[in-house]
Order: sequence, then structure tokens, then C-alpha cells
Amino acid sequence: MLSVEAALREILDRSAPLPAESIPLSVSALGRVLAEEVSADLDMPPLDRSVMDGYAVRRADCQEVGVSLLVVEEITAGRIPTKPIGAGQASRIMTGAPIPEGADAVVVVEKTRADGTDRVEILDTPKPEQHILRRGKEMRVGDILLSPGCVLRPQEIGILATAGKTNVRLIQLPRVAILATGDELIEASETPGPGQIRNSNAPMLEAQALRSGGLPRRLGIGRDDMDSLLSLIEEGLETSHVLILSGGVSAGTRDLVPQALAAAGVTAHFHKIRFKPGKPLLFGTADRAGERRLVFGLPGNPISSFVCFEVFLRPALRRLAGHADLDLPEVSATLAREANFQNDRPTYHPARLRKSPTGWDVEPIEWVGSSDLRAFLKADALLRLPPGEVRYPAGHRVDVLRLDG
Ligand code: AMP
Ligand code: MG
Repeated sequence: MLSVEAALREILDRSAPLPAESIPLSVSALGRVLAEEVSADLDMPPLDRSVMDGYAVRRADCQEVGVSLLVVEEITAGRIPTKPIGAGQASRIMTGAPIPEGADAVVVVEKTRADGTDRVEILDTPKPEQHILRRGKEMRVGDILLSPGCVLRPQEIGILATAGKTNVRLIQLPRVAILATGDELIEASETPGPGQIRNSNAPMLEAQALRSGGLPRRLGIGRDDMDSLLSLIEEGLETSHVLILSGGVSAGTRDLVPQALAAAGVTAHFHKIRFKPGKPLLFGTADRAGERRLVFGLPGNPISSFVCFEVFLRPALRRLAGHADLDLPEVSATLAREANFQNDRPTYHPARLRKSPTGWDVEPIEWVGSSDLRAFLKADALLRLPPGEVRYPAGHRVDVLRLDG
């Protein structure tokens, strides 16, 4: 059986960034990956400007504290000065307003005294260029501002607007189809009859896919028969870059997903890995419309499905969306109490992180098995455990993967 690392390699070797698309710049670009170089179309600032509210002065006039100057005009942001500053003169100036000709410093308003006349007393001996930002100091026409591969945060979106980029080329978001399978499943709006349970995996996977940068779409519930599965699998392969199935990949007599995927032309690259929770994980690929589709069969137990997604699908979706940083964020934490485990496989155990005065404390959560979504509500991290007997005393340092970071 494949190790976690080998399984991830199988997946990522077949996951390449999607092509680019052009979209109007809006907040929906947040978190997406740029697919073009962006350069400055103007100098910033476009003119020499004041960075403070105060008076534009000639330093030569202000060698002594208390000198009185004639105020010739008031320059507000967005206005162009009309009067040069001559000897013994100053202009009232606001933050962002252009520096008038002749001025070589700005004195902040707090270091002046105005008496309601057209004169101002300067209580400062300004340094050269004080509070003046010269044209082009931030950027010059043609400067490269952003490079392909850059992830757009709010500040990148601000810079795109500064550079007048109203349309941007971004790596496409992967379309993700989600298919829950099982004869026992009903939708959340229904009341379960005997033997039935509500489909919690599909909405949970949909939320995980969205959080990982995908565009999720639910295909409804597939029943444990070949016809039902085949038509929904085909719909998923036709419409999406990634098809996720939950349930039906284990060793039960109605676990038909591997067979149905093979019948739909999906090549399985692995089925079953050395990993807990989620040993039956299946990964395959298929070709549709000249493009590669990634297919994941997740075990139906909600925690297995959740953890398999975070460990194996999240990196794949992020790679498709053009991200270079694929891994869950990792923190070093201190075990808050002793922890004893006995696992036959490498295990990712749900855990709870808490801020401590020295960093992070972590506590494995207690659960009654991998269907226990209620206990999993407490989890915000995964504790990686080696196979075999593990006895960690309280205070032991461990590296933990953050789920909500
Ligand atoms: P399976 O992997 O199909 O053998 O399912 C394993 C367990 O997960 C069974 O107890 C299923 O009832 C449960 N299960 C499967 N699919 C879902 C789902 N979409 N939502 C909640 N539980 C599920
Ligand atoms: Mg099933």
C-alpha cells in the first residue's frame, strides 16, 4: 500500500495549473493567482506632494524658530498650485496636495501658529525635503509591480487598481463536482426512515472545495447501482475538472464506485493507502473534451472524507488553481496532556489547538470513531502519528497541521 507521501506524489504529478482567463478586476479576484506580469502605467506619486497637513515653505526662510511668513494660497488634495513660493512666503497645504514651485519643505500644522491673518509663524527649522514625496518615488512608468504566480491579497488588488488594471488574467478556478453515493442517504431536508441517514458529506465537501479555491457543484445522491452511478459520474466528468465521490469505495458488496469509475473510462492510479482515517481512498484520471479530469473516491465516513480531502484534495485543487504553496499550515505545539495511541497505519488524529503564553498547546480530541462529526466540531488541527504504539507525555513537542489557519 502507498504511503501518504507517495500517494500525494501520484496526485500532484497529474495536477497542473489550469489555463488563464481574463476577468474584470473585482473583489472576487481575492485569493486567486495572477497569470500575467503587471507594470506601472504612471509614476506614483504623479507629482511631488505633501505627506502632511501644514505649510509649504522655503527652508532658507526658516533658519530661526518663530519666523513669520505670508500665506499666498491654500492647496488642497486634487488642486494644482497656482502661486510659486517666493522669499518670505508659504502656502497652506494638505496631505496629498502638490508641492508649489519654490517650496523645499513642509512644516506640520502643529509646529505653526496662525493668528487669523494672512500670516503664519513657523515654529520649526525644517530639514531638506521634509514631508515631501517626490514624483515617481513609489513607482515609475514601466516598473514591474506584480509577477505571474502572485496570489492576490487585498494589497495586490489595491496595486492593480493603482495601475489602472480593470481586467486581469488569472489562473482559472477548478470546477469541482461532488457526488455522494449510498442507498441509505437522503437529503438534509428529509426525515430519515429506518436505516436512512442524511447526506452530510456533500455539503461539507462543497464547503471544503470552496475554501480550497475550487468552484464546487453538487450532483445529488448516487445510488449503489451501476446505472445510477454511471450517469452521474459521466455528468461530473463532462462538466468539471475534478470529480469527488464519497462512499462506496470500501470492501462492501454494494461498494460499486471503483467498478463504475472503470466503466466510465477512469484509470485508477491507486486504491487504498497506508493512512488513517481513509484507507480505501481511490485516485484516478480520465480524459474528457481533450482535458484531464482528476477523480477521487473518498470513504463515506464523514471524518475520513473530511481528512482525506484536506490531506489529498486540497493540495491538488490549489495546484490546479496555480498556487505554489499547497500544504496545510504547520505549527509546533505542546501536548496539553499525555497521549497514548495504537494505530496500524500512519494516522492524522483530529486535535484542538489553543494559544498559550509560549505558543500553542494541542490536545487530541476524543471520539467514538470516524463517523463522529459532532466530536470533530472541536477539531481545528490534525496530529500526525506514526504507526504502532505511541506514548507521548504531557509537554511533548509535536508538529500539527492547522485546518482553519
Ligand atoms: P461507505 O464508504 O459507503 O461504506 O460508507 C461508510 C459509512 O459512511 C456508512 O456508515 C455510510 O452510511 C456513511 N456515509 C456514506 N456517505 C455518507 C454521506 N454522504 N453523508 C454521511 N454519511 C455517509
Ligand atoms: Mg456506501
